[in-house]
Parts: sequence; structure tokens; C-alpha cells
Amino acid sequence: MSRTRARTRARGPRVAIIGCGFGGIATAVKLKKKGLTNFTVFEQSDGPGGTWWDNRYPGCEVDIASHAYSFSFLTYDWTRTHAGQAELQQYAEDVLDRFDVRRHCRFGVRVESASWDAEAARYDVRLASGETEPFDVVISCLGLLSRPRYPDWPGLDDFEGPKFHTARWESSHDLTGKRVAVVGTGSTATQVVPAIAEQVEQLYVFQRQPGWILPKGERDYTPRERAVFRRLPVVQKLRRLRLFYQFRVMFKGYDLHGKRQQQNLRLCREYIRTTVDDPELRAHLTPDYPWGCKRPVLASGFYPALNRPNVELVPHAVTQVTPKGIVDATGTEREIDVLVMATGFHATKFLASMDVRGTGGVSIHDTWKNDPRAFLGITVPGYPNFFMLYGPNTNGGFSVLAQLERQAEVAVRTIARMRRKGLRVVDTRPSAAERWVRWVDRQLVKHASAMGANCTNYYHAESGRNVTQWPKPHGEYYLLTKTLPYVGFIEVR
Ligand code: NAP
Repeated sequence: MSRTRARTRARGPRVAIIGCGFGGIATAVKLKKKGLTNFTVFEQSDGPGGTWWDNRYPGCEVDIASHAYSFSFLTYDWTRTHAGQAELQQYAEDVLDRFDVRRHCRFGVRVESASWDAEAARYDVRLASGETEPFDVVISCLGLLSRPRYPDWPGLDDFEGPKFHTARWESSHDLTGKRVAVVGTGSTATQVVPAIAEQVEQLYVFQRQPGWILPKGERDYTPRERAVFRRLPVVQKLRRLRLFYQFRVMFKGYDLHGKRQQQNLRLCREYIRTTVDDPELRAHLTPDYPWGCKRPVLASGFYPALNRPNVELVPHAVTQVTPKGIVDATGTEREIDVLVMATGFHATKFLASMDVRGTGGVSIHDTWKNDPRAFLGITVPGYPNFFMLYGPNTNGGFSVLAQLERQAEVAVRTIARMRRKGLRVVDTRPSAAERWVRWVDRQLVKHASAMGANCTNYYHAESGRNVTQWPKPHGEYYLLTKTLPYVGFIEVR
């Protein structure tokens, strides 16, 4: 028996988890639950939480109910229907401690690449420090919305005041009494705007294309509710099931021709009518494309904030920045003190911060050629023993945490099988991957976000394919990730 195989049998494969956001945490916990402890979690930040570590802008709060935006393997004493950034960050810390994962974590360590060594059947994982460490299995948990998208407006560098992206919020600047521009009206901006509107002297909100918005219904749980959730975990579980069911109903709206599409549009229009005072403002805020074409926004404070006298919606794109101001597409310049870019993320650039080289030393980016695709959104043929969480076409399905858990389970089940059967290599059948991508593409043709639906969104790669979205509710992904790995993987001893 070779040394690799003997080690695999004894301790289980050496596993590198890259990223300690919720994907990395789910994977680590599930490995531990299977008795697989030979793993390291690398995290470039100084603490866990991923997106909730990075995004610390005012008003930052999850827009899916906390009981759905949590791991299935742990009940938790949430203080709010929709947890804020600090509580989510604490949740990440608590889960690490509860499952004794922290001692596997190496914070402040950035992974630059993972290169497959076919002879040794392992990856050489190179760190930013220049060191290289060997691992039998690599699991990327880099997340989807982690690389901020900075605009390329002429003059941006010459702006004299503070300017920052929401995912890199500079809290050292006091916004009290300042003239502030927030550019963008996506899920992030609609949280920032109400959170700072009262404090600033003047707030300009630059909107290129409006989104369909519904109120989120957030509030603190009463002490009584929290006591019930704590004492009767089954109540939490039932609430979670109910939330998933409610999403299935809402999800029908993504079918362009279904009744629910019209119902969702009616609800959103009614919300505009009853919340926004000025008819002209209402018109600017009403999209002219189907519900679900862009990511629907859930935000209760945005429209009310726009009614304030010190808040102005500028319904135009930004074309230029000057040393003291910002210019919109009509050529109007507004003087500002602070510029906030709520301009989103490079969602289609999967694995952008890490080079993965598979069989023959080919980079995954060369394999993809700007058209990322993966079997179950998790594995790519020619990249053995490599798994991705939140990979191509896995965004959506309601709770991203549930999606991440399914992906972690695929990786962990495979690793457990590697140990049990003494496998050195598990790769993906090219035919299975092709069939998967064709099926996903066919589902997305009917999706409200399909090209030609007259809206801009962050889902489409340069190839024109929607490479980010999962086209169904979570239940379908659950079933497929439980079954398809049996036919999609090739095992080598
Ligand atoms: P986003 O949805 O991509 O929105 C970016 C906004 O910036 C859009 O309004 C976009 O306009 C605008 N924009 C981008 N580039 C621009 C430019 N050069 N000039 C002018 N405007 C520009 O990004 P996001 O709001 O950060 O949200 C991203 C995703 O993160 C969400 O879809 C959601 O999945 C997640 N998120 C979740 C939460 C939560 O759960 N609480 C909160 C925040 C974000 P166009 O619409 O015209 O492109």
C-alpha cells in the first residue's frame, strides 16, 4: 500500500478549506461531524464571517429571516427577525466555538493558488507568504459577492473627499452634517440610505435603473418569543420550514408567464403607491421590466427615506466625478463631501482571487474562458479532489446557507468515501457536467432574469450565459445534490 493511501485510510485526506465565511464554517463542521479532523481553514481576514466580516456599512442586515438564514444543525437565540451584521458576525464566532473548529483556522493567511500534482495525487497550496503546503483535497469557500465592483468614472481618483465602497466602509469619517452621494440602488444601497439619511445634511441617491422592492418586515423578537424559541427548538424548526414553503410560493413569480409574476408586480406597485409621496418620484422608482429580472430587493426603510426633504433621488447614471462633486448623465454637477459606492460585486468572476490548476497544469480560468460552469455548481472535470462552494449557478434557492450546506455535504461525503475506500482521486465525469449545464441553461430560459428581459443584473458572464443563478427553489437542489454525485464522479484508487 502506498504511503498516500495508508495516510488516507488512517487520518483521512488532508483537506484545505479556503475561506472562513459561512461556507467554510459549514464545511468544517460537517467534516468534524463525520470524524474527519485532518483539515485546515485558511482565511485572509483576521476573523470569521466572510461577507459579514467585510460588510460593515450602516444598516447592514440580512434580508432573509434569521431562522432561514442559519445552519440546519444548530438552533440559535436570534434577537431579531432579520439579524444585523454584528449578530451575524457573532453567530459565525459562536458556531466555530460550539463545534471546536477554531483550532483548525489560520486567520490572516491568504491562499494564492492550488496546483494539482498528478503523480503525488495532491494539491500544492501556495500561500501569499510564499510557502507551499500539500493537501489531498481543496475546498474553495471564497463566496460569490466578495470582490467589490469599483466604477471607472473619469475623475474618480481626483475626488478630494472620502470615497469608499460599501464593502470597505470607512467608519472613521463622521457623516454628520455632510453632503453625501450614494451611488446604486441595490440591496446594499437600500439599507445604507435609511441608515444615514437622518444624520447627513444632504443625501443624493444615484439610480441607474430602479429595482422591484418589497418591505422586509424586520423587528426585534419579544423576550417571550425568544424564550419560546430557546425552550422549544422544534418551534424554530417549524418556523424555518414555513419560511422555506413561503419562498416556494414567491418563487413561482420567477416564471415570466405565471400568475405569481403578476401578483408580485402588483404587490410591489402597491408598496410604491402607499409609501412614496411624490408622484414623479413614484414614476422614477417604478421599473419597466419583470419582477425577478434583477435580484428583488427587500427593504422597509428605503422609500420612506426618499420622502425626506434632505434626500434627493437622482434618476440618472453617474458619468464623471470632479474634485468637489459628482456629475450625472444630464451633465448636472452636485457638490458633495463624501462619495459612497454601493455599486455591487464582480459576481461572475468565480475564483478570481485564487488560481486553481488541475490535470496538465491548466488554470481553471483557461478552462472556463470567462464562462464558468461546474457540475452541481461544485466540481469541474479535470480538477480532481477540488470542490467549490457558492460556485456557478448556485445563487438563489432562498437561503444561501442552505445551499452552502448542500455543497459542503457533497464534498464531505466524497472525502468520507475517499477515506473508507482508500481512494486517491475523485474527478467529475465530463458528460455529467455537460448534461448538468445544459439542464440549468434550459431552466433559466424561462427565468425572469433571462437576457432580453430588459433589465441589467449581475448574473450574466461575458459569454452572455447566466452563470450565477440557481433556477429552482432549494428543495430541488437538495434532491439533486443527494443523488447526482453517485453518477457524476469517477473514483480512482
Ligand atoms: P447590486 O445589487 O449589484 O447593485 C449595485 C447597484 O449599483 C445597482 O443599483 C447598479 O445599477 C449600481 N451601479 C453599479 N455600477 C454602477 C455605475 N458604474 N454607475 C452607477 N450605478 C452603478 O449590489 P448590492 O446592492 O451590493 O447587492 C449585491 C447582492 O448582495 C444582492 O443582490 C444580494 O444578493 C446581496 N446582498 C444581500 C444583503 C442582505 O441580505 N441584507 C444586503 C446587501 C446585499 P444598475 O441596477 O443599473 O446596474
